[in-house]
Amino acid sequence: MTRKRILVSGGAGFIGSHLCEKLLKEGNEVLCLDNFFTGDKSNVVHLLNDPYFELIRHDVTEPFLAEVDQIYNLACPASPVHYQYNAIKTIKTSVMGAIHMLGLAKRVHARILQASTSEIYGNPTIHPQEESYWGNVNPIGIRSCYDEGKRCAETLFMDYHRQHRVDIKIVRIFNTYGPRMHPQDGRVVSNFIVQALRGEDITIYGDGTQTRSFQYVDDLIDGMVKMMASENFIGPVNIGNPHEFTMLQLAEKVIELTDSKSNIKFMPLPMDDPKQRQPNIELAKQELGWTPKVQLEEGLRNTIDYFTKVI
Ligand code: NAD
Ligand code: UDP
Repeated sequence: MTRKRILVSGGAGFIGSHLCEKLLKEGNEVLCLDNFFTGDKSNVVHLLNDPYFELIRHDVTEPFLAEVDQIYNLACPASPVHYQYNAIKTIKTSVMGAIHMLGLAKRVHARILQASTSEIYGNPTIHPQEESYWGNVNPIGIRSCYDEGKRCAETLFMDYHRQHRVDIKIVRIFNTYGPRMHPQDGRVVSNFIVQALRGEDITIYGDGTQTRSFQYVDDLIDGMVKMMASENFIGPVNIGNPHEFTMLQLAEKVIELTDSKSNIKFMPLPMDDPKQRQPNIELAKQELGWTPKVQLEEGLRNTIDYFTKVI
């Protein structure tokens, strides 16, 4: 195969680091771009000795120039705690980051994939969510810096495609978990596991009846790479695991698998927290021949092993 030069923005984050690893394993050259806001060098330190891996400190709200064949645009904090910390910076990252990465793709004729999100569906009124659904997003709420930023990024991707024929791909990623999530990431899977391992109370926001469908990171990476390789399909495509759980079920599962003595503590539900979420993945099956392979218990075991070592 021919070695491709691939840029991964947000490459030192949770998902980005797994992607860099996979792309290197497949024989490519990887430029990992990150401002280390939520990512960390430690996520990619094991790749630094690879002569085909380059780590570059850069903020995607500034333009970046390089000769590359492909771009994966992942730069953006993904946990509500982190993306709300500096909301204006979050929306700038999504919108200006998309403009800069699309500008680069246009200039060097690179194929570019956007890491979009199930959050673009907001608090969905149809269930499960399919790609044709336009969503139910509060444009002025505390989640909108992320949701609307990602929606605008999708618009920019489509417009660069229509106006400049840029070779784009859009994947809508549903809740993904796995090793290398930051222990203080704030998202539910890492929170529950860290709390259970430390014997602290498990914090359920609201009454725990809200649902999410959790995907293990290896399945996501497989889907993203398949999407990048597809010739004519641009998406958007949902990439997620359709098995849906309530947060109460997740808490009970984590307690069981960690053999923890933790108690469950109910806390206020954050504003605009989506009530339910489940991907319809028929399009990914059809167009990419992709289905998730790792079910929750196996994925949680791997993630628990990881956190047992790092905390
Ligand atoms: P993460 O926070 O671990 O990774 C984001 C990375 O982007 C970090 O390394 C961070 O330092 C970097 N970054 C943030 N702002 C930047 C900027 N201005 N310039 C350069 N780098 C910047 O989160 P993640 O879970 O790995 O998410 C990666 C991508 O996938 C994000 O775009 C996120 O929106 C998307 N996504 C993730 C999920 C999920 O469940 N994990 C779901 C849907 C979409
Ligand atoms: N959540 C929770 N306890 C936590 C963290 C999150 O009950 O310690 C809930 C949160 O309110 C939401 C769900 O878990 O209903 C998923 O939250 P997360 O931040 O992981 O992802 P998102 O809401 O962006 O899907």
